[in-house]
Amino acid sequence: MESNTQYPNVLLRIGGEWRPGSDARRHSVIDPFTGSVIKDFTLASRDDLEAAVQSASDAFAAWRQAAPTERSKLLRRTADLLRQRADGIADLITREQGKRLSEARLEVLGSAEVVEWFAEEGRRMYGRVVPGRGKESSQLVTREPVGIVAAFTPWNFPINQAVRKIAAALAAGCSIIVKGPEEAPASVAALVQVFLDAGIPSGVVNLVYGVPAEVSNFLIAHPLIRKVSFTGSTAVGKHLAALAGQHMKRVSMELGGHAPAIVCDDADLDLAVKLLCVQKFWNAGQACISPSRFLVQEAVYAKFVDKFVAAAKAVRVGSGLDKSTRMGPLANARRAEAMTGFVADAVQKGARVELGGSRSGQQGFMFEPTVLSSVSQHARLWNEEPFGPVAAIAPFDAIDDAIAEANRLPYALAAYGFTRSGVIARRLAQEVETGMLAINSISLGLPEMPFGGIKDSGYGSEGGAEALESYLNTKLVVHASV
Ligand code: NAD
Repeated sequence: MESNTQYPNVLLRIGGEWRPGSDARRHSVIDPFTGSVIKDFTLASRDDLEAAVQSASDAFAAWRQAAPTERSKLLRRTADLLRQRADGIADLITREQGKRLSEARLEVLGSAEVVEWFAEEGRRMYGRVVPGRGKESSQLVTREPVGIVAAFTPWNFPINQAVRKIAAALAAGCSIIVKGPEEAPASVAALVQVFLDAGIPSGVVNLVYGVPAEVSNFLIAHPLIRKVSFTGSTAVGKHLAALAGQHMKRVSMELGGHAPAIVCDDADLDLAVKLLCVQKFWNAGQACISPSRFLVQEAVYAKFVDKFVAAAKAVRVGSGLDKSTRMGPLANARRAEAMTGFVADAVQKGARVELGGSRSGQQGFMFEPTVLSSVSQHARLWNEEPFGPVAAIAPFDAIDDAIAEANRLPYALAAYGFTRSGVIARRLAQEVETGMLAINSISLGLPEMPFGGIKDSGYGSEGGAEALESYLNTKLVVHASV
């Protein structure tokens, strides 16, 4: 691990300045590879949060009036700057969050694409004209920014999860207060600095860190906040959605998943193994769309397990800063402990450990790439989102069984299918309850595509044209001439 002397002081962005939180409580940023403290920082007090809301409110008045073309220009400049700073921001992500540097770099470059997409999409906030019933009346449907947004973003993709909310909000003409992840604060601060350096006016983007429940209680209830967007666990999402409901706030929820990967006996097995192995161990499995329930048809089950284990063996674990590393540590101690618990429970219920199964190294939060076969439907791993580098595999007989199993859980975010049959592909498309489905592919999450779940995985979309919708109000103006 290289020295972390360059790690910046963590500050909040409120009212047009970077400053420490005025709450006396502190939070420590931990290096996931060593488990040691990188830096302490102070959290936001209620006064800080109030100041952030006031700042966002003042800035909103002018930002909402800016021409969409002007907002677009500034966002495109943001995307360019983000690309220029990709190496520096990627380094921060890896130090704080653990993922390997090449993934962190792709996260920043992907974020630039997200900003670019919203820069363009923001120019298309079209209204419409509804034909009037009388000659003298006009009926206009117009779109307006929803107002000041409170966004809660997680630690697994610190830049990418934040940028989807910030860029969409700004393109729509909203101002925003982001409560970033306390576990990876400096990379989000670096992202916010890019927006500022590109010329986004002061106060349009605010960044706070704090005690999550205190920040969300304050912001969601605040009368000036009009929209809440959260990415994180289903349990917290339900709590925040209920709170938002009490205050009648617009909500987007991007929550947990437990993605089924259905591998049929006619599939291109090598393709399935190659793609699913990449997707499973990307970011050490800490992705809401990570494949986590591998359902493999009986006739190819043994062969798939052998091939998948062989592929997973090549995933070398180590420091994210080391170029030979294929998978970094987990982001925090909670995830490493959770993996140990999932594996022990699954084994006790009959699963076979084909690979890994334990923590790795003497320090930090590394966990071995793990493959379990014959996982019981009763194992916790088969029912709760693992959010880690554990592939759980079980056989199925008929495609109806696989679809029934895919739909059994309340999660419904992403799903994968591998088959050469057009008929089965169509059945998967029609019958699997999910927000996103990739067949013979893992290509989900591009900026132009809708990104979001249904059922307990949330509602709303963080990509595509749909994402902008959630930051806009619809206003009808009926005008009769007199
Ligand atoms: P957690 O449930 O404690 O927290 C999840 C996220 O919500 C964190 O970012 C946290 O800061 C935030 N949070 C928690 N309580 C909050 C509150 N009252 N108000 C506002 N924000 C709050 O879990 P964790 O240990 O941090 O993460 C593990 C679980 O979270 C995983 O099992 C996974 O399901 C989920 N998760 C999902 C995503 C995603 O991309 N959908 C990202 C991160 C975590």
